[in-house]
Amino acid sequence: MKKRPDGRFFYDSVSAKSLRVPLSGRRTCTRSARLINAGSAEDTAGVSRSPRLIKVSVMTARCRILIRWLAMLLCCGSSVLHASTLVLVSIDGFRWDYLDRPEASQMKALADRGVRVTKLRTVYPSKTFPAHMSIATGLRPAQHGIVDNYFCRTDRPDCYTMGSGKKDPTWLAGTPIWTLVEQQGGRASTFFWPESDAAFSGVLPTDYRAYDGRTPHAERVEQAISWLALPAPERPKLVTLYFSSVDSAGHTYGPDAPETLAAIADVDSWIANLWQAIEALNARENAGINLVLVSDHGMAAVDPDQFIDTNTLPRPGSFKRVNASTRVMYYPQEPDANQDALVEKLAAQSEGRYWQVSPETLAERSYVDHPAVAAIVIETDPPRMFRRGGGEGADLRGMHGYPASIDDMAAFLVAIGPDFRVGRVIPEAHQLDVYPVAASLLGLSVPEGLPSDGAALRQALSAERE
Ligand code: AMP
Ligand code: ZN
Ligand code: ZN
Repeated sequence: MKKRPDGRFFYDSVSAKSLRVPLSGRRTCTRSARLINAGSAEDTAGVSRSPRLIKVSVMTARCRILIRWLAMLLCCGSSVLHASTLVLVSIDGFRWDYLDRPEASQMKALADRGVRVTKLRTVYPSKTFPAHMSIATGLRPAQHGIVDNYFCRTDRPDCYTMGSGKKDPTWLAGTPIWTLVEQQGGRASTFFWPESDAAFSGVLPTDYRAYDGRTPHAERVEQAISWLALPAPERPKLVTLYFSSVDSAGHTYGPDAPETLAAIADVDSWIANLWQAIEALNARENAGINLVLVSDHGMAAVDPDQFIDTNTLPRPGSFKRVNASTRVMYYPQEPDANQDALVEKLAAQSEGRYWQVSPETLAERSYVDHPAVAAIVIETDPPRMFRRGGGEGADLRGMHGYPASIDDMAAFLVAIGPDFRVGRVIPEAHQLDVYPVAASLLGLSVPEGLPSDGAALRQALSAERE
């Protein structure tokens, strides 16, 4: 691996040695912290150990590898010969049509050599945590429990904010793909993904990082490549990466702004570096590494002059009110909270700027039957959104969270690697299709009762894997 003048890494020759990227002494959570009691995660990295302990952990590492191979032999039979790895990369807020912009040309080139889902439809609401959790678990928000980035529940006094699952996994339901990998004898290594640092059923990924949005992209990609460059028996079955910069720029400057294009170009170059490393490993070691790029939602342009000031909306003491930017949710706090009166009051001052989402519409969006689903949900559409203070001093030109029927909310998906077809375009698939297809690719059995069998996306897989 070599370094460019701009500090980025690239590969100009294929050598196993060159593919080993040092960890630079950074803190990484390891499997020693994997099996824990809920809420008692412990980062043991950096703890000095006695020689005896080191000996024991080397033995443990050997045993782990052996156990993994035995587990694979027992459960997957012939797939041992064609072991696959999946690198699942999320580019937050990468709208479906960004891929056609010149700034995304390297990702587009990968799509041309692999599979492109033109519009990946999102769950409702199209927010970061619900959508990432749905991609990771194959469940709808009202099933995995993360129904928005911020929400309350009628059956508990506290409210959820982004990443609450790390401290308190009782917010979370379902079995994310990284947990599925671990439960079925594989190794999962996550470098960010919403709630990937939380213990699901008491299990954490072998490697994971506590979320820090300031972590340089170089560090994320280098670490992912280091994991992939491990000797085959130790190589993770699943590696995840996450980038938030395209979403952040889209919010601040708008989906068409030069700053957003620059953020796309930056991520594009990192993806190109990552793929170059993967290709080298695949060519040299027949490593069977596949790459899937996916986003959680798109981005719509918003106009601060049309923002709805939440300070002007009713706030009866008998309700908890949560502003979710494209929606406002009201949770009754008392059994006799007067919902009809609140609905009437809201309607009287709406002037067509927002409306209540009817129970039927919520049901159509599968947003029902969970204590986190508020009794009254009002929503608006772009270029409007809800904000305290309206548009006053708002550095905000882009938003998401609107229903999937708004095309600008559509996400993207690109898949490339030995287990994917070449040059296939799938006009439309759904985020819920990702989990069952990823599980098939990795030879994992999935929990029963998933809402999707992944049919729309399954044609992305090569004939043997389909
Ligand atoms: P949204 O408000 O839906 O646009 O959420 C995007 C934000 O989620 C990004 O700015 C990230 O910083 C944040 N985020 C992403 N992953 C995590 C995480 N694992 N923990 C906490 N915050 C996160
Ligand atoms: Zn997002
Ligand atoms: Zn966002």
